[in-house]
Amino acid sequence: MALDIKKDKKKEKRCYFCINNKSVIDYKEVQTLRRFVSSYMKIAPRRRSGLCAWHQRKVSRAIKQARIAGLLSFVSK
Ligand SMILES: [Zn+2]
Repeated sequence: MALDIKKDKKKEKRCYFCINNKSVIDYKEVQTLRRFVSSYMKIAPRRRSGLCAWHQRKVSRAIKQARIAGLLSFVSK
């Protein structure tokens, strides 16, 4: 039966910050935050970022802080 193989990896941890054991996301780490914004500088949705709910909240907060601090832009140029 080929049908019951497809959902093999569903319990695998995908969240970038959980894997790296990071609980604090610094808004000054622009290199890290850049991974979670699209080319239009929008915050990536969870289905794209693969983050867990807890870290997705932290990341979106950090990105917003970084924008205010001038480290990330609000819109693409
Ligand atoms: Zn996580």
